[in-house]
Amino acid sequence: MSGYAAPLAEIRFALDAVAGIGEIATLSGSDAATSETIDAILNEAARFAEEKLAPLNAIGDRTGCRMANGVVTTPPGFKEAYAAFVAAGWNGLGLPVEAGGAGLPLMLATAVLEMWSSANPAFALCPMLTQAAAELVAAEGSALQRALYLGKLVSGEWTGTMNLTEPQAGSDLGAIRMRAVKDGEHYRLTGQKIFITYGEHDLAPNIVHAVLARVEGAPAGSKGLSLFLVPKFRVNADGSPGARNDIRCLKLEEKLGIHASPTCVLAYGEEDGAIGTLVGEENRGLELMFRMMNGSRLNVGLQGAAIAERAYQQARDYAKSRVQGRPVTASAGDDAVLPILHHPDVRRMLLGMRSDADAARALAYYAAGQIDRAQGDPDAVARARHQARADLLIPIVKAWNAEQGFAVASENIQIHGGMGYIEETGAAQHLRDARIALIYEGTNGIQANDLVGRKLARDGGAAMRALIAEMRALDGPIGAAIAPGFGIIRPFLTAAIDSLAKASEDLRARYAADPAVALAGAAPYLRLSGTVIAGWLMAKAALAAESLGARDSSQRAFVAAKLLGAQFFAEHRLAQAPALLPAIRGGATVLSFEPDGF
Ligand SMILES: Cc1cc2nc3c(=O)[nH]c(=O)nc-3n(C[C@H](O)[C@H](O)[C@H](O)COP(=O)(O)OP(=O)(O)OC[C@H]3O[C@@H](n4cnc5c(N)ncnc54)[C@H](O)[C@@H]3O)c2cc1C
Repeated sequence: MSGYAAPLAEIRFALDAVAGIGEIATLSGSDAATSETIDAILNEAARFAEEKLAPLNAIGDRTGCRMANGVVTTPPGFKEAYAAFVAAGWNGLGLPVEAGGAGLPLMLATAVLEMWSSANPAFALCPMLTQAAAELVAAEGSALQRALYLGKLVSGEWTGTMNLTEPQAGSDLGAIRMRAVKDGEHYRLTGQKIFITYGEHDLAPNIVHAVLARVEGAPAGSKGLSLFLVPKFRVNADGSPGARNDIRCLKLEEKLGIHASPTCVLAYGEEDGAIGTLVGEENRGLELMFRMMNGSRLNVGLQGAAIAERAYQQARDYAKSRVQGRPVTASAGDDAVLPILHHPDVRRMLLGMRSDADAARALAYYAAGQIDRAQGDPDAVARARHQARADLLIPIVKAWNAEQGFAVASENIQIHGGMGYIEETGAAQHLRDARIALIYEGTNGIQANDLVGRKLARDGGAAMRALIAEMRALDGPIGAAIAPGFGIIRPFLTAAIDSLAKASEDLRARYAADPAVALAGAAPYLRLSGTVIAGWLMAKAALAAESLGARDSSQRAFVAAKLLGAQFFAEHRLAQAPALLPAIRGGATVLSFEPDGF
């Protein structure tokens, strides 16, 4: 088992140098984020993550949630940790002041969520969903819905869920069957939802479910979906607690990882219908649900970065203590006993894990910053530009970071050797916990379709071209002149950006001519996009580090680590980017293999 030490210097550097929190803090709505406030929040969050959440991670995995007579019990310590979380006011950190939140930038809330998700990813899912529900109610709820639910969701006193999936409706939400029948001011909902995270639990006295359902007579497919708020306990108009609603948890799923997060099968309306209220208008459900889903997709990508960080820390600690063989790096005549950290291949793996975690963090923070700018920039044209970039980045962050998290967790097992495969060390938990991020919030395949079919095709490639132009600007003469370390990265970055530019134009034209062929190359295109954009952010970090080193010699070790991490990413990851072009263009080969041939 291993502990967790929040990487505060890395987090602060990514916020400042990569994602530009200084600029964000000057935007309207973010002015509470002074540098001192940011430091104080990060320090306090680090303490909470390290002391309260991390120690519960392994026990959560071993014990899991239990259900008896419809009552779900979370693992020992979770209830107390959640109460402390709410009491400390962590839930409302990134939520708007008008809604009762602290109104701090999403980027800062993202850094804090990274710490919760590194320390205890199963726990972190509960506030993650609650905050998404609060945002939904704040933005789209009626005055009554806001009065009844918003304060409780913002504080975390009640928790929230997303209810989309049904047995026949996973990726295809248009197949949702849950029925909603109007009954006066309310609707009565009937049907079954599966895989609902924190759908039932003992952390809070009430749960507010955001549920997609179909009103009688609505059009077929996703155009006929409406969104409802359905509380576990009904709430009277004066806010006092009402009767138990007609929702029952039928089962907890036994699953590969995140055991402490209850994954529930929920039955609605077994008696006379679960009573809910409509959000917005009928048949706008999917559009409104996307409000929750976009933020959640960013957060799932963040989970990849968070688990990568945790797995890296564990691998580093193990590599410092495990002794095996005499490293070739040991000098002749030196009898010192050296741990495996000194073997060149172990150093390669560790540096790779460290730079992959860093790259995933940079990408997630950068995307969060685009959302902050899209909301707070005083200029409407700039707001639209940032929104377009955030939209482009969301599927990339979700899918690419999820893959990074899983790959790094797998490398952690490799560094542990056989002990990594044994549950006792806890290395396997990170791998099992990381795996779900590739699946939920829209599988990685759905993200790749979204990137090519919507984000690239719809605007004729404009958002991607604008990003590519900005990436090329870094690759200018100034960078190489002031920063010798950047000079090593530069040729890899240039070639990788060229490949992304080529692939983007190619795939866009291909999608117009034959969408199926283009979509068969969408996953490698997403991988290319993630690698290049994260590589660009790592290069930005390297430049910023070199400039920091020139100003402040006391930062020498930090600067060297940043530079070498970025160089590693360039030589090992960016260098492979052009090799993805044939796979991106290889859709015809995939489709030539007929379904009957499998
Ligand atoms: C632990 C856990 C927690 C979850 N939490 C929640 C929750 O809180 N709320 C909620 O509503 N749901 C939740 N889910 C459900 C999750 O979002 C779905 O599992 C996911 O969206 C995939 O749906 P599916 O499982 O039906 O897979 P399917 O849709 O059956 O997909 C199977 C495979 O087919 C591929 N595929 C399907 N359609 C396409 C397509 N059009 N193009 C290309 N490939 C395609 C997929 O990529 C995948 O590889 C959770 C699931 C799990 C396991």
